[in-house]
Amino acid sequence: MEKATSYSLRARYLFPIDRPPIRDGVITVSNGRIVSLGHDSEGECRDLGDVAILPAFINAHTHLEFSSLEHPLGEPRMVFTEWIREVIRWRRTRIEQSEGSDWRHDAIRKGIEESSQGGVLSLGEIATLPRADSDGRYAAMQGINFLELLGLADDRHDELVAAANAHVATFKSSSRHLSPGLSPHAPYTVSPRLVDSIATLAARTHTPVAMHLAETREELELLQSGSGPFCELLSELGAWHPDVIPRGSTPLDYLKLLAKAERSLVIHGNYLTREEIEFAAQQRERMSVIYCARTHAYFGHERYPLQEMLDCGVAVALGTDSRASNPDLNMLNELRFVARQHQDIPPESILRLATINAATALGIGESHGTLTPGKQANLIVVPISEGDSSDPYELLFGWEQSVMMVFRSKSCCTEVTRL
Ligand SMILES: [Zn+2]
Repeated sequence: MEKATSYSLRARYLFPIDRPPIRDGVITVSNGRIVSLGHDSEGECRDLGDVAILPAFINAHTHLEFSSLEHPLGEPRMVFTEWIREVIRWRRTRIEQSEGSDWRHDAIRKGIEESSQGGVLSLGEIATLPRADSDGRYAAMQGINFLELLGLADDRHDELVAAANAHVATFKSSSRHLSPGLSPHAPYTVSPRLVDSIATLAARTHTPVAMHLAETREELELLQSGSGPFCELLSELGAWHPDVIPRGSTPLDYLKLLAKAERSLVIHGNYLTREEIEFAAQQRERMSVIYCARTHAYFGHERYPLQEMLDCGVAVALGTDSRASNPDLNMLNELRFVARQHQDIPPESILRLATINAATALGIGESHGTLTPGKQANLIVVPISEGDSSDPYELLFGWEQSVMMVFRSKSCCTEVTRL
């Protein structure tokens, strides 16, 4: 690791994101901020050769506490509620084996390391740890720490709102990098009344909200008729409360509640209807939908309506979700997967999903997500093929190279890590 205050780098391509790639470009940085982009530098310039320089990736949705998993839980294409059973079993075993210490700490540390090495320096983390980042666990990361709220029973409402209030207050006073967020988990684990209260609290405290929504057909069945695999699972767990969700509910009801918050992240949205997509598009300045592409593929869902959402003007960003449903937390792998799955979508739109769109989703778009003078100089360097394709995106997405260097902007200087 080295440290630098002012420097210029030349690369075969710069990907500024807010404008087309610059061939043989030079980026100049001073005191952790981007100063200029162009073809020349005033002072000394370090030529990095056949590489691309991009803004650091932003992972809009993950759960780092699963980062110790070597492989996703269960089997590909399994029924979602069966996978939830696997998660519950796995979590119980971790708790039993941890003998009093918290199993989540090491996993989170691992997840942060893996994320950084893959060029992710900001994330939207869903955390079940009820306390703030007092030991600096997340010190290397920027973004949002969303407290996960779980409890469908109406009598859990006040307790969960109190926990949400405490999370916002403690995190705001103690965390050095991450900001607080709130995550009423999903329609099958929290009541609409709780979602309403959390969105209202979020609006009052200028806190973002994230919620898993319209992820499976089984979830839609539960909302519509109060029956199906979720009802069976919740009954088995003694957590089914038939009067909590009004019959005939839809994801749109939840979108309207989430829209009360200044900023909301709709996680997945795999089965949003046209009307719901249009609603999300109308709210695009304040609401983002987070596509977790390899998790979506893991469960064998119907084709993701990415094209439709983008055409409609929805603010879509990319998340890896966790290692419980994805083989890794590598954003470049996620992007390449999306590029292969959605070949009709221009690659520049795909790259935006993990840069400026994800920054906007997390409310850090003013300072992150593009190579724009004035923004934080969080940069990543990716080797690109030596072939002479005239398409820079083909050079970036068509090969399997990993991030080779990370430039992390700090208040004193920029920290450079070679991988
Ligand atoms: Zn998730």
